Amino acid sequence: MSNRIEPRTDGTSTGSRRRPAGYQAPGQFTTVCAGCRRAPVTAAEVADLSTVWLLPGLGDVPAAARFCRACAPRGPIAEVACAACGDGPLLAGDLAAAADLATTAAIDAWLVETGWRPAGPWCPDCRGGRR
Ligand SMILES: [Zn+2]
Ligand SMILES: [Zn+2]
Repeated sequence: MSNRIEPRTDGTSTGSRRRPAGYQAPGQFTTVCAGCRRAPVTAAEVADLSTVWLLPGLGDVPAAARFCRACAPRGPIAEVACAACGDGPLLAGDLAAAADLATTAAIDAWLVETGWRPAGPWCPDCRGGRR
């Protein structure tokens, strides 16, 4: 379990709303590009790096990463989109191509762990405020 994204609970840029441990909101940049290790500089790079990717990780656990445009994974890409706001991680590689139950369960487990409610799905920002 060493590949979790780092919890950020200080809420510096998002007001008083508490976030589940392990969830990084779009707009919080605690990580650099997982490919070239560069931090975003321009607004376009910031936008690219605001996207969370889920990649085949260790064992059954998907690994979350961010990429600049040049380093973004090629090949099959799928996405998880919040039913309310449309935000969500992109799935790359085997996670996007595979439709088997084990892969789906692994993705759902990651979503739950980072505060999602898979039934919508609803992201951590929307799950609390929807009726
Ligand atoms: Zn890069
Ligand atoms: Zn949402």
